[in-house]
Amino acid sequence: MSERADIAVIGAGAAGLMAAIAAGRAAMEAGARLRIIALDGAKTLGAKILVAGGGRCNVTHHHVDERAYAGSSRNSIRNVLGRFDVPRTIAFFREIGVELKQEDTGKLFPTSDRARTVLDALLGEARRVGIELWHPWRVVSVRAIEGGFEVGREDVQACSEVRTLLARRVILATGGKALPKSGSDGHGYSIAKSLGHTMTPRVFPALVPLTTSDGHFLRELSGVSAPAEVIVAGAGAKPIVSFTNSVLFTHLGLSGPAILDASRYLADARHADPQAALVLNFAPGLSPADLDRAIVSAKGQSIARWLAESLEFRARVPGHSDRGLPERLSRALCDHVNLDPSTQVQSLTRAQRTAIVSAVTSLAVPITGDRGFTHAEVTAGGVPLGEVRLDSMESRTTPGVHLCGEVCDVDGRIGGFNFQWAWSSGQVAGSAAAKAIIART
Ligand SMILES: Cc1cc2nc3c(=O)[nH]c(=O)nc-3n(C[C@H](O)[C@H](O)[C@H](O)COP(=O)(O)OP(=O)(O)OC[C@H]3O[C@@H](n4cnc5c(N)ncnc54)[C@H](O)[C@@H]3O)c2cc1C
Repeated sequence: MSERADIAVIGAGAAGLMAAIAAGRAAMEAGARLRIIALDGAKTLGAKILVAGGGRCNVTHHHVDERAYAGSSRNSIRNVLGRFDVPRTIAFFREIGVELKQEDTGKLFPTSDRARTVLDALLGEARRVGIELWHPWRVVSVRAIEGGFEVGREDVQACSEVRTLLARRVILATGGKALPKSGSDGHGYSIAKSLGHTMTPRVFPALVPLTTSDGHFLRELSGVSAPAEVIVAGAGAKPIVSFTNSVLFTHLGLSGPAILDASRYLADARHADPQAALVLNFAPGLSPADLDRAIVSAKGQSIARWLAESLEFRARVPGHSDRGLPERLSRALCDHVNLDPSTQVQSLTRAQRTAIVSAVTSLAVPITGDRGFTHAEVTAGGVPLGEVRLDSMESRTTPGVHLCGEVCDVDGRIGGFNFQWAWSSGQVAGSAAAKAIIART
């Protein structure tokens, strides 16, 4: 059995819901009756929105610009973000009943602190503007036919079930491969390829925890976190990029915002040069010479205690001004350089000072890999933006198909940037798809 629609949105995650709403609103404003159906393979909708931001959903960031993203060219990313920017996003959420608050870090969350508020408001608005939400309805194929597309469903048992949807336009919003149990398993890439798109040569996990070797001393610190500068260094220890924020030690390696942000750059650097390294600096902004001088002038404390309490470490990382180096970490760093943590600062030899200063300011951590798509927040790689028209997100290879969200080769930093990409690209794709149909009727 098949049915007809004007627009089939494939994937009802952040980008797909925004695209469907934008299409529905554009139709309403024009007084046109369009049948818009959002299809999703998942039994329950919005799994990723619900887990986002630790269940609070970091909807966006107060300052979003293209430098927070990687993948396609930054000019293309800026172009799309500028078409539905942060003020418009905040206004949109206010219109649908979600008031956002800005935290010190610049991240915006719903005032309810509940991701459910965001998902319910999006689903409510989708219904208000007449969107049909069909799920579970997993799409396996999209085929161009006379006047539109045939959208094919995964095999279903009951003969009475709709197996194909004939749509005038299709919006591909299937996400990437991160957190596959949420329904984003990468099949959208095969659909994009079947429509003539290419993929970036590599598709890999981003915003992902990293692993260290079994028995590495930092694994003993599982549960401890510390502010640090995380540096991705290439050949000759040359820094490529660095992020300053919290680092969390885990039973398998490293996590926390600074590590997640660095992870895709490390993977990229290692692809070009397997020797590329990850270096931690627990005293950002303080040169090794300054740190050495500070130790020389200290008195009456063990080195481990001094590292844990010294004001030299404070106020160097935004949001962490009340913290020194965690004592467990300072002890572990001493042990790592064969220095007894209880040694009094004034009795340290020059060699001991040099060793501990180096461990604190440039600790190279041998990274064995990452925790893969199951633990990644986003996917690096996808359909290059060069293959879509930026003013409509319409495919250059198959006109009538629009793409938005994570299926595109765009990934952002921690902080609400990935959702902002989903909202911006979804809004552009949805309103353009509806307007194109309205213009022809
Ligand atoms: C744990 C976690 C926390 C995160 N926290 C944040 C945060 O706080 N802030 C932030 O900005 N970003 C966050 N992100 C990233 C953000 O969730 C994603 O960037 C965003 O959801 C991407 O939106 P999307 O709609 O493109 O893809 P998705 O949200 O992945 O949605 C794709 C949808 O398509 C459906 N689908 C896939 N294939 C098919 C098919 N063949 N047929 C039918 N349906 C299909 C899937 O079921 C899914 O519902 C987080 C991600 C994770 C994993």
